[in-house]
Amino acid sequence: MPTDEITLLPGSSGGAWRGNEYIASLKDEREVWCDGRRVDVTGDPGFRPMLSTLAGLHDAQHLPGRADEMLHRSDTSGNLVSLSYLAPADRDGLSRKWANSHRWAEASYGQLSRIPDFMSNVVVGLYDYRHELAEVNPEFGSNAENYYHYCRERDLTLTHGLGDPQIDRSSTPADRPELGLRVVRRGADGIVVRGAKQIATLAPYAHEVLIYLSPANYLREDPSYVCWFAAPLATPGLRVLCRRSYADGSGGLSARYDEQDAMLVFDDVFIPMNRVFLLDDSQAAVRGFGELNKWSLYTGQVRYYHRLRTMLGVASLLAQAIGVDKFRQVTDLLGELTSYVEIVRLGLAAIDAECRPTPSGLLAPGSTGALDAVAGRFSTRGSEIIRQIGASGLIMQPSDADLGTSELRAVLDTYMCGREMGAEEKSRIFRLAADLAVDRFGMRQELYETWNRGDPARVRSMLHARYPDLQRCETQARNLAEGRNDTT
Ligand SMILES: Cc1cc2nc3c(=O)[nH]c(=O)nc-3n(C[C@H](O)[C@H](O)[C@H](O)COP(=O)(O)OP(=O)(O)OC[C@H]3O[C@@H](n4cnc5c(N)ncnc54)[C@H](O)[C@@H]3O)c2cc1C
Repeated sequence: MPTDEITLLPGSSGGAWRGNEYIASLKDEREVWCDGRRVDVTGDPGFRPMLSTLAGLHDAQHLPGRADEMLHRSDTSGNLVSLSYLAPADRDGLSRKWANSHRWAEASYGQLSRIPDFMSNVVVGLYDYRHELAEVNPEFGSNAENYYHYCRERDLTLTHGLGDPQIDRSSTPADRPELGLRVVRRGADGIVVRGAKQIATLAPYAHEVLIYLSPANYLREDPSYVCWFAAPLATPGLRVLCRRSYADGSGGLSARYDEQDAMLVFDDVFIPMNRVFLLDDSQAAVRGFGELNKWSLYTGQVRYYHRLRTMLGVASLLAQAIGVDKFRQVTDLLGELTSYVEIVRLGLAAIDAECRPTPSGLLAPGSTGALDAVAGRFSTRGSEIIRQIGASGLIMQPSDADLGTSELRAVLDTYMCGREMGAEEKSRIFRLAADLAVDRFGMRQELYETWNRGDPARVRSMLHARYPDLQRCETQARNLAEGRNDTT
């Protein structure tokens, strides 16, 4: 049982949020900036549409028929808590966990890379890694365990900011301390951290941030840059600098699914010791990084699978709308996109089948490395296929206002309809396609798919370097080159 306090957030009755409770819980002192203004995310028009989307997703967990698939009774409080926070110890638990992830991802059409399910799974990873943290310092281990219970019972939505600000990648914090987040003061009651993190997606909508990596730490061994901790977004000294909102009143994806990306600036922020999970030990940090991410990488692929399915559905409808769906080069493109969907589905099944026990007694999925290595490429190619099929129609569509104008309507119905599709339906499908593959929302998604798992060149290099069958492949190649039969 957690020893930590379980003070509930405003509006919460404990356990998994309902939408209105979740919105109320974000009404706090957080310092969120966007486009030169300090904003209240619960009311600002640039943030409200996405907040409504998130509220709807929280409500959906409680729908009859859904609750069994998305919630379960906490063994400590008896509250109905999210299955995203389930720390699975057996096959049944793991299956229930993934079924819940599919629900979150499907309900948001794969458009929300950081649905709360993602970071909840990182917290499961932190809990799983608690024994190794305890070896560094017993307090770190119990902090990790308590924090897991704390998040689960309060259904906290988290963000994470792992990267360092993009100032000068050829330099190190040894030359310029501001390149990495660091501990600047220590006391028995806690630490003070200074620096910034780039990027933290979903930050303005999150309750807390979890920090557990600084790439600067890989560049040199200064222990002050090794600090794992959690902090509420409403912590004094923490500023959330958002990019411009994509909410443009068009009603398209850009408003409803703009999950936001932010730089987090820690201006001498005090972190109480019970929220510190690791200090100084860079080896434990490097080992732990992969351990924390195991479940979230899997659920990230679940979300990605639903995004690819959305792209396939849109590409297919585009082709039907303008009567090109039977042309060979178009069916070729649609088949290619289908193959990406299937590769990811089969990959998810295989990775799930390769689940294995962890040292702490949980059951974790196998490695997502191969899917992570191709995700950006599949996604970019998917967008390209949508652009290839939709062509000029992706920009030449009437708006809702055009369609509502009586003087134009007859012309639009004649020249802007599709093969067997009215102008209204066709324009909605094409505008959706433009959101996905042409406009800034879609281009941001492309950046996300390419970069969110880290530098793709590094992901692929690591995959090769750690491939367990590499030696055998090399031996076979050597045998073949030397004309030997492979009898092993
Ligand atoms: C939309 C979006 C959302 C994201 N959300 C999150 C999030 O929620 N949380 C989070 O932690 N991270 C998030 N990320 C950040 C992501 O992890 C980083 O983008 C990624 O790690 C790459 O870092 P960078 O963007 O700073 O690029 P950089 O490291 O600055 O790289 C820029 C270029 O320089 C090259 N380069 C840099 N260093 C080297 C080197 N040493 N050797 C060779 N080449 C090098 C890179 O290959 C690249 O071509 C997000 C990114 C995007 C785009």
